[in-house]
Amino acid sequence: ELPEIASKARTRAIMETYGLTFKKSLGQNFLTDLNILKKIVAAAEVGEEDDVIEIGPGIGALTEQLAKSAHQVMALEIDSRLIPVLSETLSPYDNVKIVEQDVLKADLKELIAQNFDGRHKIKLVANLPYYITTPIVMHLLEVDVDFETIVVMMQKEVADRLAAQPGTKDYGSLSVAVQYEMDAKIAFIVPKTVFMPQPKVDSAIIALNRKDEKPNVPVDEPFFKKMVKGIFLHRRKSLWNNLQGLYGKDPSTKEKIEHALKNAEIEKSVRAERLSISQMVRLADNLFAEKL
Ligand code: SAM
Repeated sequence: ELPEIASKARTRAIMETYGLTFKKSLGQNFLTDLNILKKIVAAAEVGEEDDVIEIGPGIGALTEQLAKSAHQVMALEIDSRLIPVLSETLSPYDNVKIVEQDVLKADLKELIAQNFDGRHKIKLVANLPYYITTPIVMHLLEVDVDFETIVVMMQKEVADRLAAQPGTKDYGSLSVAVQYEMDAKIAFIVPKTVFMPQPKVDSAIIALNRKDEKPNVPVDEPFFKKMVKGIFLHRRKSLWNNLQGLYGKDPSTKEKIEHALKNAEIEKSVRAERLSISQMVRLADNLFAEKL
């Protein structure tokens, strides 16, 4: 019987057998530590009742551990060189489907309908390619799929921003975009030594779980999202200044902004990083009511 894919020796052997090189441009840093992989699967609480989507299986180290616990696994890999490798390394598992696609272009809803039976919870577990971490997270929040949980590895620095609380330097529009829909928690930190090749920075596993209820839903969601981006645009400026940058500086617009702030019970001089998500929703609703 073959040893687990996740070891430095087997990873090296697979790369050699197929004459492969790691593609830096695709963020290929493969995990070679079985213990870390098991911790990732445990953080997502993957079990028989779950269908799991993985982004970027690489040579299959995480996919293998997911296959051992989950009902079905579907993994999307962009690098065509890895497809024949995966069909060999994962051949012992009959519950794995590899799809050669770019996750940002894939129709996840359609793929789910094709490959899953609709009777299992859907979880997303991945060691993300770092060059597109943020676009992938934003994409996952936007697609119309009800993920039970999203457990992903990313640069620690980005994970800190996703999980940041108001009043901290890491809190920004990304924190709000994620935490508006999901509870975000850093599960654990991963040292760079467990990857091949080693990345330059440490990583973190972040767990995103859907909120039972959205804290309060804004009257107009696109308006809210645009406002959130706008109030964090110049972090050193006050909310008042950023709102004028967003909606205009003419006297009548200024009056409307002032009125909305007053109704939302928020001070002009405060910075966006101090506002909780529910304060932002209240502000957006009041600005929207002023027809800005
Ligand atoms: N899951 C493997 C592991 O943990 O060892 C590999 C993780 S590696 C950090 C990221 C993987 O994502 C690579 O296999 C890379 O080819 C793949 N990838 C990069 N961009 C992608 C994209 N847009 N869509 C799907 N996969 C992508």
